[in-house]
Amino acid sequence: MKLLRFSFACSRKVAVYAQMCNRYLDYAPLWITIGWCNGCFFLEAKGEQGELETLAAAIGKDFLYSIWMTDARIEAVDSRIGGRIPLKTRTVIGPFCQHCHPLFADNQSPQFGQTDLACPVCHGEQHPSAAISFADIQGFAQQLREQGEVTLAVGGHRTTLRMLPFTDAAPQRAHVLVCNPNRLAANFSAEHHHVMALSSVEKPVVTLFAKPSSLQHPITQTLYGVRFAWHRALSVLAEILRQQGVDYLFYRTDAPQLSVAWVANQWSECDVDAAGSVPAPFAGLKAPLHDSATVRGLQADWHKNIVTFALSAPSRDTSDRTTHALCALHAGSIESDVWRHQAVIYFSNQSPGQLVVLDPRLNPEVFFRLRPLPQTGQQWWQALETQGRHDFLSRFSARFPDDTAQLVGMHFTGPRDNLTTLFAACACVMGLATTEQSVQQLADRVIAAAMSFHGKNAHRIDIGFDESLDDNQESNVSISGLDFYQTLASVMAFRLATDGDDASVPKLAFGIMDSLADHLATWIEHLDGKHGIEQVVLAGNEMTNECLAQRLAVRVGKNFPLFANRRLALDSSNLSVGALLLKQRRGRGW
Ligand SMILES: [Zn+2]
Repeated sequence: MKLLRFSFACSRKVAVYAQMCNRYLDYAPLWITIGWCNGCFFLEAKGEQGELETLAAAIGKDFLYSIWMTDARIEAVDSRIGGRIPLKTRTVIGPFCQHCHPLFADNQSPQFGQTDLACPVCHGEQHPSAAISFADIQGFAQQLREQGEVTLAVGGHRTTLRMLPFTDAAPQRAHVLVCNPNRLAANFSAEHHHVMALSSVEKPVVTLFAKPSSLQHPITQTLYGVRFAWHRALSVLAEILRQQGVDYLFYRTDAPQLSVAWVANQWSECDVDAAGSVPAPFAGLKAPLHDSATVRGLQADWHKNIVTFALSAPSRDTSDRTTHALCALHAGSIESDVWRHQAVIYFSNQSPGQLVVLDPRLNPEVFFRLRPLPQTGQQWWQALETQGRHDFLSRFSARFPDDTAQLVGMHFTGPRDNLTTLFAACACVMGLATTEQSVQQLADRVIAAAMSFHGKNAHRIDIGFDESLDDNQESNVSISGLDFYQTLASVMAFRLATDGDDASVPKLAFGIMDSLADHLATWIEHLDGKHGIEQVVLAGNEMTNECLAQRLAVRVGKNFPLFANRRLALDSSNLSVGALLLKQRRGRGW
């Protein structure tokens, strides 16, 4: 007889796993004890080899992959630490699970289309999507085929599906619902970890780039938010369409969505979505400096080690946007429990990109903070002219008149102290821009091009320091910016050197990401010599750029442990929680 412990380490408390542990209390062949301890679900059982092998197979089948699972293991132990008390969890854990999904969502099943099928595991029959009948769903499929568009209302939220891309001015990335998972790889650049996440318990939005070989629609080779069907009615609709040869649909929804990014080799939540869902409470912060803090309209309130969240007006923010990188650094400390000798690489399209390190006395040193880039392409061009690049610009505009016109005609909306603006400008001079694209869509083209490059070495792109005076800076503190004019000029020089060869664009795009990661690695080594660095936190919603995140993992991660928030998001809840630790006097009566 052997006593085995099956454990699932998770960065978040996964409701399905709690539910599964509870179900195994009724496992007849063996006496099972369960528990949740130190971020780990576990089950214990004593038995003969054969009995334990049968149990292992059952657990392996029942515990579906969750994006929050960080480790799964089986070990022989001497004594039990678990008990027989069910873990606290919700009764209805989702619209469907692996037990009921094959029954109602597979056209070969006799119960196909039975959206209200009762499930003893997930109780998904109580989910609002179970109220949509098979006949209604068949009607939706017909409407999609005939009119190209249909809208489903579920639980007070509307999801509009289309056969063709939405064509109105959309500042955001297009979203795609996959109908045929078996054809995913034919249409999108899905690697193993992407496929695992898409089919995980959480059914999150994963960012992928479209392959040029995608046959269904002539879609642009850029980034898409890709998702598998996330409730019962959508699952049945997707299956009907799959049978009719539809691989995917375009969609928009006002329902909360979980978007995730692969940072430092695990999944992290990106930021609060437009539907403004409130994050779950966060436990474990012992002694903050403030009881309440609000960042970008997300309020964090601390009471007895627990932080709860509430939506608030952005005008009630308790700290300004230049502090957000430091907030992200603190959030890294709170989750990782590493408090000293930490640095943060923070890039966000909302707040200034920064490299910040805490010195041994826990005072922050800002190594660089991005300055706002010019608002118009005309201003970019003029700035390059005044930097003595007149002849070079003449050569570029003579060789690439369309790309030059594209840049000069650009108007960069939104915050501009970020990488997104730089990449959008690069898209123009790399021949990746077409008119009527938003700044985000232009930046996406460069990231998609970089992700499509499969080599490891590329052109070195210059990034220098901008030591000019920053109007927004606090008095008598001199903080460098980064000189992205040099970067843009360097990209333009390579376009000239390769004579506009489109085949070299992915390599050039990769070179931009890799060079940035390499510069950051050098600067962090410098800071390590000065202060000693034990961990580097990666944060900000521009870390969802998977190529940049992977190059940072290679370049910075080879010398320093990397950390990204898993319990908190990369650029929302982490800032609000981190702001509870900001050492600063607050304005507005705080
Ligand atoms: Zn179920």
